[in-house]
Amino acid sequence: MAIAGEITLKPGKERSLLRRHPWIYDTAVARVKGSPAAGATVAVRSHEGKWLAWAAYSPDSTLRARCWSFIESDSIDADWLAARVREAVARRRHLEPASDALRLVFGEADGLPGLVADRYGEHLVVQFQAAGVEARREVLLDALLAATGCAGIYDRSDSAGRQREGLPPTHGPVRGAEPPSRIAIREHGRRFHVDVRAGHKTGFYIDQRDNRQRASTLAARAAGDRTAAEALNCFCYTGAFSVAMAAGGAASVLSIDSSAEALALAQENWALNALPTAAAQWQAANVFEALRALRAEGRGFDLIVLDPPKFASSHHHVDRAARAYKDINLGALRLLRPGGHLLTFSCSGAISVDLFQKIVAGAVIDAGVETQLLSRLAAGEDHPLRMTHPEGEYLKGLLLQRVPD
Ligand code: SAH
Repeated sequence: MAIAGEITLKPGKERSLLRRHPWIYDTAVARVKGSPAAGATVAVRSHEGKWLAWAAYSPDSTLRARCWSFIESDSIDADWLAARVREAVARRRHLEPASDALRLVFGEADGLPGLVADRYGEHLVVQFQAAGVEARREVLLDALLAATGCAGIYDRSDSAGRQREGLPPTHGPVRGAEPPSRIAIREHGRRFHVDVRAGHKTGFYIDQRDNRQRASTLAARAAGDRTAAEALNCFCYTGAFSVAMAAGGAASVLSIDSSAEALALAQENWALNALPTAAAQWQAANVFEALRALRAEGRGFDLIVLDPPKFASSHHHVDRAARAYKDINLGALRLLRPGGHLLTFSCSGAISVDLFQKIVAGAVIDAGVETQLLSRLAAGEDHPLRMTHPEGEYLKGLLLQRVPD
C-alpha cells in the first residue's frame, strides 16, 4: 500500500517514538498532511520534521496511529507483512510439542499492531482489532495460511476494541474449511474441545497453558502428600484447570462458573479426558457468593485456582476492581488448608503486577493466615511482551502456599 500521508507530532511528543513505543494518541498530533483513509500508511515526523516511523492511521480512534516500523527504508507492503507473519509463526514452533493451541500472532508484541491469530489444530482464528491490520486483511489472511498450512481461518473480530477503532464487528469463516462446532485440541497431553464460534476470546484461554501445567504438577504433589487432595477451580470456564488438576492427581475438583454453557463444555472436556465422573462437582454460581457459602459449610481445599474475568476494563475501574480481587482472594484464602496452594490471577491490564500483589497481600492479612509467595505467574511464551510496549502486559498471577500451622 502506498504512503498516503504524513503526520507531524507536537513538540516533545517524539520522545516515546524514539524509545520505539508504537502508539500515537490524537493529542500528540499537531498536523496531518493529505487525507489518509482508515488504515493507510503514514510517515510520522517530529515537530522539527525528522522522520520517526511508518504507522497505520486510524482517524476514528483516540489511538490515532500505530507504528509498523522505525526503519525508514522499510516499505509496508504485502512482502513486509508476510515476513512479520512468518517470523511470528516460526518463533512459536518450539511450543508445538506442548500444544496445538497456540497464539501465533500477538499484535504489537509481534510487530503487527492489532492482529491476533490463534491456532487450534488445523484451524486459525483471527481478530483484526485496529484499522491498520483491517485495511490489510486479505494480505494478512493469505500470509497466515501460507505460513501455517492450516485448513481454514475463522474470524472472531467481535471484541470491544474494534468499536474504538470505528470498525464494525465481523464474525465468520474467511478462508478455506469451516471449523467444526468443536475443535479438539491437545495441551500437555490433555484434550479439550473448543468452540471457536461462541467461546470467549477466540474460544480458549490459551494464555494459561503453563499455569495449568503448574496446577497439574501441584495436584500431583498434593496427592502424594495426602490421601485425597481436594481442589477448587473458581471461574472454571470450560474446565481446563479442572481437568489439569484432576489429571495431575486431585481426588476431587469442585468447579464453579456462572455460565451454564461454559459448565456444559467443561463437563464434556472432563469426559474427553476419561476422568472419573464421581471426582467432579460442578456448580453454576456467582463465585463471590459461592466462596462465602463454602466457608459457612466449613469446607477446605488443598489447591485453589482463582482466574476471574477482567474486573478492570480501564484505569477508571481500578478501585472497584481492587475491592473485587481482594474479596475473592480473601474468600479463597479462608478455604485454603495449611500447606495448600493458591494460584490467583488478574487479567486486567490496568492492574499492575505490583498492585495485584498488594491486593492479595491485603487479603492474606485479613484472612489471618501465613503464606509464602512461591512464584509469579504470567501468560505463556506465545503471548510475549514487547519491552518497548508495556501496555501489552495483562495476565499476572501469584502462586502462594499457606504455611503449615
Ligand atoms: N480459567 C479459565 C478461564 C476463566 S474465564 C480457563 O483456564 O479456561 C472467566 C470465567 O468467569 C468465565 O467462564 C465467566 O463465565 C466466569 N464468570 C464471570 N463472572 C463470574 C462470577 N461472578 N461468578 C462465577 N463465574 C463468573
